[in-house]
Amino acid sequence: EAKSQGRNVACIYDPSMSERIMERRQLEMDLCQAVARKELRLEFQPRFDAMTQGIIGAEALVRWHHPIRGVLSPDCFIPVAEENGVIFEISDWVLREACWNAMSWENELWVSVNLSPVEFQRHDLVQRIQRVLEETGLSAERLELEITENIVREDSEAILTTMSDLKALGVRLSMDNFGTDYSSLGYLQSYPFDGIKIDRSFLMYLDHSERHEAVVDAIIRMGHALSLNVTIGGVETTEQLERVSSLSCDQVQGFYLGPPISPASFKELVCDGVCR
Ligand code: C2E
Ligand code: MG
Ligand code: MG
Repeated sequence: EAKSQGRNVACIYDPSMSERIMERRQLEMDLCQAVARKELRLEFQPRFDAMTQGIIGAEALVRWHHPIRGVLSPDCFIPVAEENGVIFEISDWVLREACWNAMSWENELWVSVNLSPVEFQRHDLVQRIQRVLEETGLSAERLELEITENIVREDSEAILTTMSDLKALGVRLSMDNFGTDYSSLGYLQSYPFDGIKIDRSFLMYLDHSERHEAVVDAIIRMGHALSLNVTIGGVETTEQLERVSSLSCDQVQGFYLGPPISPASFKELVCDGVCR
């Protein structure tokens, strides 16, 4: 039996698949060294007030400057890091770097950092964040944590406790990628979120019909009814910005108003807006 199975496996042997596995293992090994080798970089994407279109904060987005493969996007290494546990080290670096940068900005803009759901399995998550705030001197009100909406489906008691402890520190919590899963609507009121970021897939709806626009409008109203701050992300065109502005969302983010840029460029951008 085992023998015939072995032959079957041999028959479907696919060299490209084993290459992919090797590549992935190499990536994993490289990732373990990435922080120590200082290969990670942050970019900051400005977030704007929907009414005044002034910059009110920025989202920190991590990039990996791989010595051979060039700049890698978080989508291709964060999932790997979540699997092998390197996410904790990466996340510590991101948080500290984001807070240090925010301290160097001319005015009191806040900074937003993405948390991975696996970080909630860490018993010291809250202390870790508190320590970074103390070390950098950033006041907690200037830190926002973005948590993807699928967190609310996990062990809710433990998650809820951690979230309340984070709120007690004074940081803001926002539900990221809101609306990709309708079930999160029902959970929203049970968790201490301060805001929601409506997923950019909704902007495609806005291009299609008034009925779709009504759905987005209803989500914004519901958010406001729950006293939540509502951000729309992924605004890429003038037309989208106009549509979004006609809705009553609070904040906007997107390539059209401002793409993610280096810390130095963001600092300059902020200074230009305030100092001159
Ligand atoms: P996200 O939190 O939803 O971040 C927004 C993503 O959309 C970013 O991609 C950003 O560059 C992109 N984006 C912003 N405006 C536009 C636009 O107008 N059009 C389009 N098409 N895209 C836009 P990025 O930087 O590749 O990040 C992807 C995801 O990786 C993030 O999605 C976030 O979930 C995750 N991520 C990024 N940095 C970190 C981090 O430091 N820690 C963790 N755990 N996750 C991170
Ligand atoms: Mg985010
Ligand atoms: Mg998103």
